Amino acid sequence: MDENTVRRYPKVNFTVVWKPGKCIHAAECIKALPAVYHPKDKPWITLENASVDALKAQISKCPSGALSWEEKTNATHEEEKEEVANSGASVHVLPNGPLMVKGIIRLRA
Ligand code: SF4
Repeated sequence: MDENTVRRYPKVNFTVVWKPGKCIHAAECIKALPAVYHPKDKPWITLENASVDALKAQISKCPSGALSWEEKTNATHEEEKEEVANSGASVHVLPNGPLMVKGIIRLRA
C-alpha cells in the first residue's frame, strides 16, 4: 500500500484518520475497542460503536501514530495537542473593564 495513503472514517463532526503506511499492526486499537475495529471487514472502522471520548482516548494510544482524528474545527489531533501545550493562557483587565484573554481557558459559572 502507498505510504502516503490516508483513509477517513467520518461520524458527524468527528473523523478518524488512518494512515495504513504508518500502521505497525500492533492491534492496540482492536484490543481497546473491538466493537469499532474489524480488520477483516470493509470499512474496518465503524465509529457508531463508540463515543467520541472513547475514540480519542484509544487513538491517543496508537503506538505508530497511524490513527489520528479531525473535528469540525478542522484541527487535527496533533494540532489540538500542540495548541493545548502552548496555550500559556492569560487574562488581562484593560482600562474601563474589558478583559483580554489569551490562550485556552475554561469558564465556570
Ligand atoms: S493501534 Fe495503530 S498501529 Fe496498532 S494496529 Fe491500530 S492503527 Fe495500527
